[in-house]
Amino acid sequence: MRYWRVPLDSKEIVVSRGIVVILEERCKGCGYCIAYCPRNVLELSPGYNIKGYHPPIVKKPDDCVNCHYCETICPDFAIYSLEIPPELSQQAVLPEPEAEISR
Ligand code: SF4
Ligand code: SF4
Repeated sequence: MRYWRVPLDSKEIVVSRGIVVILEERCKGCGYCIAYCPRNVLELSPGYNIKGYHPPIVKKPDDCVNCHYCETICPDFAIYSLEIPPELSQQAVLPEPEAEISR
């Protein structure tokens, strides 16, 4: 993610990190969680669940920021995220942004 403006205290901001839990058998493969995840953490599994749908899988576990958006948007309560305590998180600060000026 690129920022066009960077807060002066960005190095001190602790970014929440999450673990995604997927309840595969509840999933109906609609793909909402994949399409709307702001960090592109999820992708469609090549496998099938018991209902014959492709559930999501986590492709970039380190990028989850525990925003709960996937949890909120899922119509079947098949996915949720849990916060990783900051002391256990290896990436506790925002990554250094690339300089970019939008006009
Ligand atoms: S909690 Fe947010 S960042 Fe993590 S997988 Fe769900 S939508 Fe993506
Ligand atoms: S939003 Fe829910 S039902 Fe739809 S693909 Fe994701 S986990 Fe499955």
